[in-house]
Amino acid sequence: MKGHIAGKTAAEWQSDYPLLTDIIQTKEVYWENPAYRPASKEQPITREELDEAAALFQRFLPFLRKTFPEAELAEEGIVSPLKKIADMKAELETVKGDLWLKCDHDLPVAGSIKARGGFFEILNYAETLASEHGLLSRPDDYSKFDSEQFRNFFADYSIAVGSTGNLGLSIGIISAKIGFRVTVHMSQDAKQWKKDLLRSYGVTVIEHPADFSVAVEKGREMCLQEQRCYFVDDEDSKNLFLGYTVAAKEIEQQLKTAGVAVDEKHPLIVYLPCGVGGGPGGVTYGLKQIYGEAVHCIFAEPTHAPSMLLGLMTGLYDKVAVQDFGIDNITEADGLAVGRPSGFVAPIIDKMIAGIYTIEDQELYKLLYLLYRSEGLFLEPSALAGMYGPARWSEKIEKTLGINSGQATHLVWSTGGSLVPKHDRETMLSKGKEAVL
Ligand SMILES: *Cc1c(COP(=O)(O)O)cnc(C)c1O
Repeated sequence: MKGHIAGKTAAEWQSDYPLLTDIIQTKEVYWENPAYRPASKEQPITREELDEAAALFQRFLPFLRKTFPEAELAEEGIVSPLKKIADMKAELETVKGDLWLKCDHDLPVAGSIKARGGFFEILNYAETLASEHGLLSRPDDYSKFDSEQFRNFFADYSIAVGSTGNLGLSIGIISAKIGFRVTVHMSQDAKQWKKDLLRSYGVTVIEHPADFSVAVEKGREMCLQEQRCYFVDDEDSKNLFLGYTVAAKEIEQQLKTAGVAVDEKHPLIVYLPCGVGGGPGGVTYGLKQIYGEAVHCIFAEPTHAPSMLLGLMTGLYDKVAVQDFGIDNITEADGLAVGRPSGFVAPIIDKMIAGIYTIEDQELYKLLYLLYRSEGLFLEPSALAGMYGPARWSEKIEKTLGINSGQATHLVWSTGGSLVPKHDRETMLSKGKEAVL
């Protein structure tokens, strides 16, 4: 542990924030956000920007359809199902209201929530380039992006990104299809199958024997030295964030169709796995725009990577890393293996989220197995972090929010897993089964 963190010793920090002692010992905790303002109306991003983000996906739909015929994209495009999981609720025996799963593990093509942010950022960049070079006029049929002419044009440009796996998958696949030269800088957490899959798309994968922050830093440096290289900066990206916000409109429509009321008498509690915070932050931002005080968002992090928790609790945001407090950032939840939160996201959401809890890897595996057994759904370990909210903390959360038991609808955000190969699935399932027994 380092001597001083932002001018204070670790002991001083602990005396100011008693919960830190458990966090440093990697014990599971629930942190109630003292700055939470359920009706916060601060809007660093305008409603128009949110609508524009959704419109961009619509413009690219003809391209996405043509490029990914096997995905059989719906009319709505890159969207995921919303599922009521009554059998899992029965399995858990801890939830009073209804339990729903937002199935972003099933998002087309990229198989994780990163399809939202990653696709948005790359498509937005491609559109800007094409417009600036007179290849595009609005309105135009964007299926022309799937052409030799366009691919030749984009081959002069490159994309780079640092990732623990899923962002690399999403950015790599869409960039390669557009025709960009693309390099993914993977941290040591990245699973082999993710690297293999990317290489099959013609993506350059560079493996760094270090954690996420280092992969990002190296990627940024190498990109700067190249001409016409665009770096997707997961630690500080407004465009990734905007892409994630689009999910909120989608879920509003789905809840309406399902006949689920969301209002002050029937609040919606949403549980979101958090890495740098872009995915869960963007979703939260969008949901707050739509539902205001009627929605409460809770983030979930591994006990060994509580980056957003430390950033918000101390108020240091991205100026603190879990390693500063001697926490190792080593977790099986590769999508959440992040030591430092996004400097763009942390200050935006610091009054918008109700709380953060942490979860041990072992519990992720148990939930992975239980969800599979009860609902036949397979998720990757990171994606189960949200399920621990209903399983372990819902009573406490309802109490702190002043919600009567049974009134709230519980929505767990499933963030990835549909691309995990069969062999890896079996290994994870048996690990979960052993943990349950
Ligand atoms: C990236 C990721 C998250 C978290 O998103 P952040 O933007 O890093 O907070 C959650 N689950 C999975 C599976 C992911 O890949």
